[in-house]
Amino acid sequence: MDKLQKDGYNKFLKNYFKHNKDLFKRLSNTQKPDTMIITCSDSRINPALLLDAKPGELFVIRNIGNVVPPYQPELGSTQAAIEYAVNVLNVKKIVVLGHSNCGACAHMYHEHKENEPELKHVDHWLKHIEIAKSAAMLEIHADENKNLFELTEKHNIVSSLRRLMGYPYVQKRLINKKIDIIGWWYDIGTGSVEVYDFNSRHFSPAI
Ligand SMILES: [Zn+2]
Repeated sequence: MDKLQKDGYNKFLKNYFKHNKDLFKRLSNTQKPDTMIITCSDSRINPALLLDAKPGELFVIRNIGNVVPPYQPELGSTQAAIEYAVNVLNVKKIVVLGHSNCGACAHMYHEHKENEPELKHVDHWLKHIEIAKSAAMLEIHADENKNLFELTEKHNIVSSLRRLMGYPYVQKRLINKKIDIIGWWYDIGTGSVEVYDFNSRHFSPAI
């Protein structure tokens, strides 16, 4: 363990763990999170910090670009996490948490240069964002003052929400009002969060 990790772990044991011993004792046997967060692997995104959540409150899946892949024909870890969260943990909310300056969305507009490494897996995964890119480009076509990257990030959140509807068990629970699905766009620099409104189909400030 290098110095940084060791110092961090020591601090955790002496401070956070020590002050929350009862919580960790309770959590040692079971978890019962209310909310699933699907967010980007980006190092600047910390859902627990953003929501002031304690261990055990959030079931988090992270991938590049906070993508929900289609239910079929794909099989993968994101789908497995959704299946487990909904059918076993019975989460009541699924939040797709996208963010500003998302490298995955920006990569959609990047032209590969010869001296750059080949990103076969990244490029393959980001095909899931193609639909958001097209939607963003259409919107820019109508109003070029808008920010293409921000639009792509927001459309990507919406397409992930739409794909969630394609998961039969999510759809069933939505119809029966047993689950809620939520889209959030988080601005790293200002700390503001915008929430997707399913009626107006726009994002507006959470607070
Ligand atoms: Zn990102």
